[in-house]
Amino acid sequence: MFRNLKPVGRILYGRNSFDQLGDILGELRIEQDSFVLFLVDKYFEGKDFLKRIPSHPQDILKMIDTIDEPKTKTVDEIVAEIKGLNKGLPVSVVGIGGGTVMDYAKAIRLMFTNEGSSVQYQGLDFIKNKGVHCTVIPTISGTGAEVSMTTVLTGPVKKLGIKGNFTAADQLVLDPELITTVPEPIRFYTAMDCYIHNIEALNGYRKSVMGDSLGTESLRIFRDIYLGSDSRSPENEEKLMIASYLGGLSLTYSEVGACHAISYGLATVTNIHHGVGNCVVFNQLEEFYPEAVKEFREMMRINNIDIPHGVTAGCTPDEIDQMIDVSLTLIFMWQHVCGPDWEKIITREKLRGLLMKM
Ligand code: ZN
Repeated sequence: MFRNLKPVGRILYGRNSFDQLGDILGELRIEQDSFVLFLVDKYFEGKDFLKRIPSHPQDILKMIDTIDEPKTKTVDEIVAEIKGLNKGLPVSVVGIGGGTVMDYAKAIRLMFTNEGSSVQYQGLDFIKNKGVHCTVIPTISGTGAEVSMTTVLTGPVKKLGIKGNFTAADQLVLDPELITTVPEPIRFYTAMDCYIHNIEALNGYRKSVMGDSLGTESLRIFRDIYLGSDSRSPENEEKLMIASYLGGLSLTYSEVGACHAISYGLATVTNIHHGVGNCVVFNQLEEFYPEAVKEFREMMRINNIDIPHGVTAGCTPDEIDQMIDVSLTLIFMWQHVCGPDWEKIITREKLRGLLMKM
C-alpha cells in the first residue's frame, strides 16, 4: 500500500524562534475565552523556562511526568478532566518536551474529537475525525515524534501507535536553543533513537528512494555530531535537531526494524525508556546490522557512555516469553527486516537468546 504522507502543517525554525509562539497561538485565539492546553515536560518544573511560555490566565498548563512511556490511560484521564471543566475544546494542544510529551499532545488532541478510549484507536487508520489544532516543540531531539504520523502509546494489552491521516501535528517549532540544557546520558540515548531509525530505515525490504534520501542525509549529519570531538557544540545541537526531523520523516517511507521490534517487547515488561531500551537491544544486533553496531559502539566510546547491562537478568521465563510475544506481533517490522519468510528466521528461540544477553 502507498503511504499518503501527511507532514507537519507548518514549521517555525531557528534559534530563539520559541519567542514567536505567542504570535502563533494568538492567531488561534479567536474568542475571548479561547484557551490553550499546554503539556510541559516535568523536567522544567520550577525552572525559569516556564516564564517564557506565552500562557493566558484561562489556559491550562499540565506538567507531564516522562518517567514512563506515554500511556492510553493518561491520555484518557487528561481528556476527561479537560472535558469535565465545561470550557469547550482548546484552540491548540501544545506539547513542549521530548517524544513522550509530544506523543501525548498528538494523542490527546485526537481524543477530544473521537469518542471512547484511546485504546480503541491503537493501530493504523482507526481515527475517524480530525483532532483539535496541535503544536509540538521538542526540547530534546532524536525520537522524530515532532514530525511522525505515529503517536506511540502503551495500553493495557498493546504498545502500539495511533497512526493515520490526522495524527501529525499542525505546527512544529524547531528552536535549537531549547535542547542545549538536556543532561547526559539522556541526550545520548534519545539521540541514538534517531541513529537507529536511520539504520533500520536504510536496511530492509520496505526501503524506498524517498525514505533513503531523507535517512541518508539524517545519518550523515548524525555522524558529524557523534563521531566528532564535541557533540555538544551549538552547531551540533542544531544538527541533532535537524537529524531527528529528517530521520522521523524517512520512516514514513520505510520502516523501523529488528531493534524496535525487540525493544517494544523489552519495554512492555521492564518499562525501560525507549532510548535506553533501543541502545541495550541494538548493542546485541550484529547479526542484523554488523557495521552499524560497530559504529554505535565507537560513538559510545567517544562520548564516554556505558549502557545498562543485565536488564533481563532478573526476569522470569514467563516475562521473557511475554517480551517475545509482543515482539512477534510486530509483523510489519519483521517483514521489513527479513522479507515475507521472516517467520522462518525470527524464531522464539532466536529472540530468547538475544533477550537473555541484554
Ligand atoms: Zn524509536
